[in-house]
Amino acid sequence: MKSLLEGLIALQNVELEIFKAEEGLKELPKDVEEIESIIRARMGSLNAVDEEIAMLEERKAPLEAELKENQEILDAADARIKRIKTNKEYLALQREIDLAKKRKSDIEDQLLGIMDKIEKKLLDKERIQKSFEADKVILDEKKEKLLAQMQDLQAVLAEYKGQDEKLRASVDPALLSKYDRIKQSKKGLAVVACHHGVCRGCHMHIPPQLYNELVRGDKMIICPTCQRMLYIESAPEKEKAEEKQKAEKKE
Ligand SMILES: [Zn+2]
Repeated sequence: MKSLLEGLIALQNVELEIFKAEEGLKELPKDVEEIESIIRARMGSLNAVDEEIAMLEERKAPLEAELKENQEILDAADARIKRIKTNKEYLALQREIDLAKKRKSDIEDQLLGIMDKIEKKLLDKERIQKSFEADKVILDEKKEKLLAQMQDLQAVLAEYKGQDEKLRASVDPALLSKYDRIKQSKKGLAVVACHHGVCRGCHMHIPPQLYNELVRGDKMIICPTCQRMLYIESAPEKEKAEEKQKAEKKE
């Protein structure tokens, strides 16, 4: 029966590879997009700090102009005070000077406040930038890996696409439709190995009588629990050989 199922097993292997590759190609772009959106968000917060700094810088210019204007008023008053003749004029000018000095101190306070804020924002920016640069290396690496994985899956698809159709054509149509029915109801595996009387599909023991029939190999055996087609696994012999090889290598 193994020989009859061989075509199906080959088909199933190809279809599983195609399925895994297609699933991967659906999922991996989402992971790439997630990384890109993290990078965008981090760049966004850097830009936001830059904008805040620019806005603060913009507020400095008019204040500095006003400070200069005010200084001109003070300088002019200083020059005028020497030529004052009456007490009344003196008091008026003194009031003007006091106002200008008060204004000067106000503007200077405002400028200092702004500069203080700019300094803090620059520190924020430096902190964000440093952690971003460190994280970006990791994020870029992750993204590169994902893109490489996607390329690998594309290669798998390119290799297997078309092979499935060829294999389908070589399998007995009745067997193929049975395979498709089981595959659909089991979402994937339709043909599974039976190892030491245990179905590899559902991990349940099959009755000894059925196992004997399976070993005889003259008819198709379906697992009574999961309804998948069974074949006797020939792999153990191979595994034993491999294990022996490994053991020999160690020595
Ligand atoms: Zn089973």
